[in-house]
Amino acid sequence: MTSTITGAILIGDDSLDNGRRNLQAVDPSTGAKLEPNFAEAGAAEVEQACALAWAAFDTYRETSLEKRALFLEAIGEQIMALGQPLVDRAVAETGLPAARIEGERARTVGQLRLFAQVVRAGEFLDVRVDSALPQRKPLPRPDLRLRQIALGPVAVFGSSNFPLAFSVAGGDTASSLAAGCPVVVKGHPAHPGTGELIGRAIQAAARACGMPAGVFSLLLGGIETGALLVADPRIKAVGFTGSRGGGLALMDISTKRREPIPVFAEMSSINPVFLFPGALAARAEAIGTAFVGSLTLGAGQFCTNPGVVVALRSPDLDRFVQAATAALGGSVPSPMLTPGIHQAFERGVNAMASQAGVQVQARGQTGAGPNRGQAALFLTDAKNFLAQEALQHEVFGAASVVVVCDTVEEMRAVAEGVEGQLTTTLHLEPGDYQAARELIPVLERKSGRILANEWPTGVEVAHAMVHGGPYPATSDSRFTSVGTLAIRRFLRPVSYQSLPVELLPESLRPENLGQLPRLEDGVRLLPPA
Ligand code: NAP
Repeated sequence: MTSTITGAILIGDDSLDNGRRNLQAVDPSTGAKLEPNFAEAGAAEVEQACALAWAAFDTYRETSLEKRALFLEAIGEQIMALGQPLVDRAVAETGLPAARIEGERARTVGQLRLFAQVVRAGEFLDVRVDSALPQRKPLPRPDLRLRQIALGPVAVFGSSNFPLAFSVAGGDTASSLAAGCPVVVKGHPAHPGTGELIGRAIQAAARACGMPAGVFSLLLGGIETGALLVADPRIKAVGFTGSRGGGLALMDISTKRREPIPVFAEMSSINPVFLFPGALAARAEAIGTAFVGSLTLGAGQFCTNPGVVVALRSPDLDRFVQAATAALGGSVPSPMLTPGIHQAFERGVNAMASQAGVQVQARGQTGAGPNRGQAALFLTDAKNFLAQEALQHEVFGAASVVVVCDTVEEMRAVAEGVEGQLTTTLHLEPGDYQAARELIPVLERKSGRILANEWPTGVEVAHAMVHGGPYPATSDSRFTSVGTLAIRRFLRPVSYQSLPVELLPESLRPENLGQLPRLEDGVRLLPPA
């Protein structure tokens, strides 16, 4: 696998240069520009990529489950074959440490392997059969067979904060490909070289596995490129991770299309953490220190960053605040992902500090070098928090506000008052269980994942993970963008009624049905082991 970065646009099996080399990456840790200049895709390249993706769709969605699984695994192998140059480039483009990039690479490849297992198992096809009952009175029942089919080509927007796990071959791409959807990625301009290396790995895997060329393309460009892509009639769904403004803009484009399409956007979350009295009494200092660890991890650039802490006023809460203040005061900032994200963080912190009734409790160290985001901890009370909507705005980076409540009812009011969230967290002891039991129904309505005595910043790629939640956490709370359930976003059910066997899809023919898990006349049946 070659690790040369050329700056070309990757369309299907080809790489091309349209001469519009307008895009250059920046090393956020030094501010230096990185070579080469990348070609920006315009209308012609969007047209080409979408035409190819559409041409590939019917072939790709009917590839055998085994062949599709091998393709996903081959992508993982090609990514690993990129070796150190991939890690070096991702470090240079993001300012993230090598160990984090290596961990993210393992997660990306592990995700592809896990999705390959899911594809092989065939459960995601959700096969159902209701056999014909010709003798049924007063009316006979027809033969009904159902399976999930792929939605169509998906536009994937790589995210800035996960250059591997949520970018070119990240969760949205892996789940689209697993579902049987070709993918056109709009690469994030913050890490174009990393994107090209991964894109070439996917091209190599597609070639080796005999996939139709249009199964994957990678376009770089600005918001016009992304807008053209989402508006293209051959794109049938969108996967996005980024800002609320960006997600809303794509949703707006999608609804104005002649054929509106689903946009699965993961946007904004402040991930409330509720500290119960028993937990604070038992271990306020340990919770305070661990909280700062989660808050400052990766310069706070996680969608699950704990941006608000809610607790009852008490001497134990003071102990928590003191411990957090001390830990934050010692925190040395690492570079943020881009100058733009750093500027947005500074604006957000300044805006929070200038809100009425908000006290700046602690700041981290300033750090040396460009784009360092100085961590911030604010303090306010529940009445003020609930009265000022601006206090709920996500500040992307290491910034959080402690909301002090006078009563349990106020804690509940804060839970009711926040917008939709990816996560909510409880720190508690057995003595707090009754209070927590009363809060959990509210948290279920508000968030996609509820945690106890842990921190939300780790997101396991697993079958039972939900990385989703009501708006503005995501645009569609029925789904997740992490974990194997993410595949479901890119599928839709089709029912086949009384079709002659010869016309049924192969998987639903009587002779093949036994190979798949299925619901047959209401009974769950599994293929032979
Ligand atoms: P972003 O500005 O939303 O951009 C994400 C992607 O969407 C980029 O490829 C961007 O293209 C594209 N895009 C944005 N607005 C668009 C529009 N109106 N039309 C078409 N395409 C559009 O996010 P970001 O660059 O990753 O970070 C900026 C801010 O997003 C952060 O400060 C933070 O607030 C938030 N963020 C949130 C999360 C999260 O997980 N919730 C993750 C990352 C970032 P261009 O870059 O070419 O404009």
